[in-house]
Amino acid sequence: MNVKKDFPIFASNPDLVYLDSGATTHKPKTVIDALSSFYSDNYGTVHRGIYDLSVKSTNQYNDARRSVKEYINAKSDRNIIFTRGTTDSINLAAFGFLEHQLSTGDEIIITEIEHHANFVPWQQLAKRHNITLKFAEIEDDGTFNINKFKALITPKTKFIAITHISNVLGTILPVKEVIAIAKENNCYILLDGAQAIAHLTVDVSELDPDFYCFSGHKMYGPTGIGICYASDRILEEMQPIAFGGDMIETVKKEGTTFTEAPLKFEAGTPPIVEAIGLHSAINYINELGRESIKTHEDQLTTSALAEMKKIDWIEILGDAPDRSSTISFNVTGIHPHDLGTILDNDNVAVRVGHHCAQPAMTRFNVPATARISFGVYNTESDIDKCIKSLHNAREVFGF
Ligand code: PMP
Repeated sequence: MNVKKDFPIFASNPDLVYLDSGATTHKPKTVIDALSSFYSDNYGTVHRGIYDLSVKSTNQYNDARRSVKEYINAKSDRNIIFTRGTTDSINLAAFGFLEHQLSTGDEIIITEIEHHANFVPWQQLAKRHNITLKFAEIEDDGTFNINKFKALITPKTKFIAITHISNVLGTILPVKEVIAIAKENNCYILLDGAQAIAHLTVDVSELDPDFYCFSGHKMYGPTGIGICYASDRILEEMQPIAFGGDMIETVKKEGTTFTEAPLKFEAGTPPIVEAIGLHSAINYINELGRESIKTHEDQLTTSALAEMKKIDWIEILGDAPDRSSTISFNVTGIHPHDLGTILDNDNVAVRVGHHCAQPAMTRFNVPATARISFGVYNTESDIDKCIKSLHNAREVFGF
């Protein structure tokens, strides 16, 4: 796969080695052009105007929702709620849905390596309602132990929220099995798909979770837009958490009635242009083909791991057999922040820190790590340059 040419960032910065797609991906020209031409030619508000531009905008906005529906194979457009991102989507699940379902003594299960976005909302709910938050353990090799997870479930377990792919370890969790267990035990199940959506084929009709949450900016689309996929049974029960224009049916001094899903959960002027950009990003991914993307990124991951494992001063966190293209590691004798700075001098962009997953750092007994994560534009040469820069960092530190 040779697609660097599709991304203008590599024309403006030809030597850039960008290894932080797990945080956010760069945008192909087609997406940037779609944003620009929509603003230039078609921009208007949605759902409100009867003039031509508003009708065009509304149609394109609706088409964008349909493209997301098709991308994840949802049953209907109504299951696709536009939000600001994964964090916003998970907050909607927590405070629009679960908060209204809780009884004293209920339990929620998450894993000990969740991103803060899939951790803090549940912790806040637990605190407000005096319920118990339980943590499924992750093994030393980064794998998810399904039997230990199963042992946590009790008749009081109401909700399970787990990541599809760990943003720290790259582990792909056995979500099919977890969903089956959730159903056997009458629990609701949410998958945090932020790290999976650009790398795997996600079919929500086959998986059938209650929620599947992800962000546009991690799949070559714009910031400011995300998706909360909610199953039909959730839509029947979920309450809005934002109130105002666009989500109502009638408003009177005496009271208000709400419109149907998904608009019921999208108060205010929505992320119109961002949705158009996301549609374009989905088209881009579909043109490359999700199988080809996976093959390309798997090859890069295998090469990077093989090279890194040859070096005795690199310590990789986790080594799950079923993994994605995110690799966290530490270099002996160099703090990850110093490492990140030296790599940056070589124009190699890696993420360093706790990756918004402090409990995962505690679990693996490290204050922070460096992390590389691949996108469609990465090449074997990026890996070589990164490894060279790691050697350079060791030299700078006098090793
Ligand atoms: N969950 C995971 C696994 C993530 O990697 C991220 C982003 N780093 C998020 C949630 C939050 O996504 P956003 O910041 O786009 O809301």
